[in-house]
Amino acid sequence: MLAETGIPTKENLASIMPPDERLAQGPVAIAECFQNIPCDPCYHSCKQGAIQEFQDINDRPQIDFNKCNGCGSCMSRCPGLAIFVVDATYGDNEALVKIPYEFLPIPEVGEIVTAINRAGQPVADAKIIKVQNTKVQDRTAIIWLAVPKEYMMEVRHFKVKEVR
Ligand code: SF4
Ligand code: SF4
Repeated sequence: MLAETGIPTKENLASIMPPDERLAQGPVAIAECFQNIPCDPCYHSCKQGAIQEFQDINDRPQIDFNKCNGCGSCMSRCPGLAIFVVDATYGDNEALVKIPYEFLPIPEVGEIVTAINRAGQPVADAKIIKVQNTKVQDRTAIIWLAVPKEYMMEVRHFKVKEVR
C-alpha cells in the first residue's frame, strides 16, 4: 500500500496512466503524484495548459494528455520529483523515459547506467541519451534514458555504474 511502502500499487498507477493510443503518438507526461498535498507548481509551469487548474491547492494534478506535448517543463518544477515523460515512439525496441535527477555526479551522454524501478530494484541496463540541466531548472536535471520498451512503465530512476 502506497502510504506504508511509498510504492504506488497497480491500481494507483492505472488511475493516472495515459491510454495506449496516446502513448503511441509520442512523448507525454505522467504525474505519479498520489497524495493530496499543498503543492501546485506543476500547474503553473505548463505553458500548454495541459495540467488542469487546481480548484484547491491540495488537489492532485490532472493532465490532459491530448494537450501535453511531453516538453518536460513541469518536471523540474515538481518538488516531489513525481513527474516523468515517457516516449513509446523512440525506437522499435526502446522507449525514452525522462527522469528528474538531483544527484551528483550528473551522468554523461552515452553512459550506460542501471535502470531501476519504483521499488529501487534494478531492471535493465539503459543508455543516457540527453542531459538537460539549465539554470532555469535550478539543479533539477532532466535525464533522458533509453530503456528496453517493455520496461518503460517500470523504470523511474537509475544508478550510475561507476562513481567518477
Ligand atoms: S510535459 Fe510539458 S506540456 Fe506536458 S504537462 Fe508537463 S509542462 Fe505541460
Ligand atoms: S508539483 Fe509535483 S508534487 Fe506538486 S502537485 Fe504537482 S506533481 Fe504533485
